[in-house]
Amino acid sequence: MQWILKLERIDETGVLQSRTIGHIERPELASEADLGLTHEGGKYLIRQIQAEVTCDQVQAFIAKARICSSCDRARPIKDHRRRKIDTIFGHLRLHAPRYEDCRCGASNAASPVGALFPHRSTPELRYLQAKLGSVYSYRQAATILNEFLPDIGSFNPATTRNRVMAVGKVIEEEIQAEIATRPLAEKPVEQMTVGIDGAFVRAASSKNQRRHFEIVLGKIEPLEQSSKVFAAVRDLDAHARERVRSALRTAGRGPTTRLTVLSDGEDAMRLMAGQWLNGQVEHRLDWFHLRRRMEWLGRSLSWTIDYADPDSQTLQATYQRSLHSVRRNLWHHGRSRHGRWLIALSHLGAQILSHHNATHDAGGDPARIREAYKRFQDLERYTRGNIRSLMDYGRAWHHGEPISTAHIESTVNQIINHRMCKKRQMRWSRWGAQMMLHVRTAYLNGNLERVCGLSRPNAMILTNAAMLKAI
Ligand SMILES: [Zn+2]
Repeated sequence: MQWILKLERIDETGVLQSRTIGHIERPELASEADLGLTHEGGKYLIRQIQAEVTCDQVQAFIAKARICSSCDRARPIKDHRRRKIDTIFGHLRLHAPRYEDCRCGASNAASPVGALFPHRSTPELRYLQAKLGSVYSYRQAATILNEFLPDIGSFNPATTRNRVMAVGKVIEEEIQAEIATRPLAEKPVEQMTVGIDGAFVRAASSKNQRRHFEIVLGKIEPLEQSSKVFAAVRDLDAHARERVRSALRTAGRGPTTRLTVLSDGEDAMRLMAGQWLNGQVEHRLDWFHLRRRMEWLGRSLSWTIDYADPDSQTLQATYQRSLHSVRRNLWHHGRSRHGRWLIALSHLGAQILSHHNATHDAGGDPARIREAYKRFQDLERYTRGNIRSLMDYGRAWHHGEPISTAHIESTVNQIINHRMCKKRQMRWSRWGAQMMLHVRTAYLNGNLERVCGLSRPNAMILTNAAMLKAI
């Protein structure tokens, strides 16, 4: 069977122009593979349509741009050139004439097509390349683009990488401009919660022989506004602090904003909260991390029990009660009454030790109990070390205050692990890692379209639908 594909264009004067742009030849339906267009056939046709549509657009554009904006006369043509422009549906060579300045003396763009496409690509393609390049390896991203887009074989890992880096650079320039001016938020938010965490990526071998870079990243949750993520390469980077501050300002932090920082309580993070985020900052130990340590201890304790022993149930109940008491006292009185949870904790410690001694005296193997005791000591060190950052979690929770950033873990996974984690053999330069982080966070924050210059993603489709309705 055969079809002829025609493209009809209605120009401004209402004249219909019809052009044949392709033939479709498909067998009669005899097997499942015969149905409809083939992948390659579809790609070919869409490329033809793209070439026709862009050709018409460019012709109209250069004719208009030739006219002098001050005296309305056509400018003399200097020469005819071609300019390569990459689009989603094909790499085009557009007619790009250069014009002389008008005789009236007014100066307009010498090469209007060149001026219109400074990146030699469309925003949609830049967005797609940056998005795929930030999710998959550059090689995988290039393979996917080659597979599905009409120009076969024209994408490679290097062009994908360059695209991601270029988009990252645009974001970097925006951030540097923000840091230089430090504009005050128009409507600063009253309250803002920031969950902070750290992660490592492999460093490219360099003179200073660093094996990993530390990334500081987090999630900003302004009151009654959508959350945003941020990430900055921390090592050796004097800008990291400014980047994080900038991210907070952009999310609406003003001089009066109350800032609550939640972290897992590691020294570096506590220090950062104090020194980097000056102003009204309250650092809180994340309940999620605290609870998780108690859960680890609970599991460890249950492995110490010998269930053949007739007293095992009593022992299990004792441990559960003691652990519950620690947990309840931390939850209700973490800040206001340190005594309570400290007593509950030391009580639990004493129980483990006495269990250990009894097992030892009876000739049993106390290895697992020693393990559990180590876990217990971890928890004790951790809570005592963070004693200033503990809070009355129950009360805060009841008042709707932030106590946990359980989802910070998933934020870390979203930003780092898929693309930059240590399992992949990818090594990063400091600059390369920061650019990739810019693109990934922009994507997660819903900013990537804008940064790539894609302001009206659906305009074309909507117009076409409207046109079809009109017909
Ligand atoms: Zn003129």
